Amino acid sequence: MRIGIIGAGQLGQMLGFAARELGVECRFVDPSANPPAAQCGKVIQSAFDDPVALMALADTCDVITYEFENVPVDALQQIAGIAPVYPPAAALRHSQDRLAEKKLFEELKIPLPGYHVIDAREELDDAAEKLGLPMVIKTRRLGYDGKGQFVAQQRGDLDAAWDAIGGPALIAEQWVPFDYEVSCIGVRNVAGEVAIYPLSRNVHKDGILRTSRSPVDEPQLANKASDYVQRLLNHLDYVGVLALELFVNGDDLLANEFAPRVHNSGHWTIEGSETSQFENHLRAIMNRPLGRTTSKGHAGMINLLGEISEATRMLTVGVLHDYGKTPRQGRKLGHVTVLADTAEQRDTLVGIIDESVTQSTA
Ligand code: AMP
Repeated sequence: MRIGIIGAGQLGQMLGFAARELGVECRFVDPSANPPAAQCGKVIQSAFDDPVALMALADTCDVITYEFENVPVDALQQIAGIAPVYPPAAALRHSQDRLAEKKLFEELKIPLPGYHVIDAREELDDAAEKLGLPMVIKTRRLGYDGKGQFVAQQRGDLDAAWDAIGGPALIAEQWVPFDYEVSCIGVRNVAGEVAIYPLSRNVHKDGILRTSRSPVDEPQLANKASDYVQRLLNHLDYVGVLALELFVNGDDLLANEFAPRVHNSGHWTIEGSETSQFENHLRAIMNRPLGRTTSKGHAGMINLLGEISEATRMLTVGVLHDYGKTPRQGRKLGHVTVLADTAEQRDTLVGIIDESVTQSTA
């Protein structure tokens, strides 16, 4: 069995490590010269949408998957007749366009923040009228880690917002004064078997994930989120891992977005779950029975952005994952996972490590 993976970044690398444990070979397509996943298998160095490279991948692999959601859907459809491609193109198409994604949430009765479609400058005024201020203005396509976003606090900010990201195909969202953010990761295999991981509680700074902690001791929220993820998985006839990000606002759980791939907020599952999200993604696309998603304890994950300091390398707690990437400001270079017997111990460890990491990159 050989798995073709489009993208050879850190997610591809962690899929590659999981594949090795399962005795499965991986092959990648990636434009970079020496991407993180190069240590896990052959990399065809090429653009993600290069038909020749994708054909070469499909011709030599039994099943194809991808590690990031900006792969052109057309490119995937071209090779789908040669080898099965999972997750399905419909999931990718919805996740690439915030409007299509929101309409899908509405269709599946998954609650979401109020929004307004923006194609012209004056529609920002209509949106401010309808949604109130502050509001978040986002590009519909190709936004990630908070990029392509603008928070308008007052009417006077709307011109600046338009100057910064204006043009057709924006969306304005009601500002959610959330209590905290969570994500729910689910997985479905070709046969339709579904497994759901315990909720992760996530902290973002400047739109980028900093820490995740799991489980979250809120059974009602976990049940609701699990129900929403199952609606998505079953409706899309989904195969693979899917992550749904949500805002917790009082008793409400509001969907922000979903990712049709393994997710940064599930990195803790490598040490913290009986089966990691990476292994289960591979099991799902190979149509093997899914592994158990039971937690082994209270897990925490701290992202390492910009640089991995000597102090972080000297840590005597947790497991350091270094993706082997060249340091650059704000770039995800690695993460640390901690596993504790109680939520309090876990939170203390996450707090100490996050503070030391933040200080060293400040
Ligand atoms: P996104 O790229 O949509 O995942 O947004 C990145 C981060 O920005 C989220 O994880 C939130 O922390 C914040 N954010 C996005 N949309 C909203 C919103 N409507 N209200 C409040 N915060 C938001």
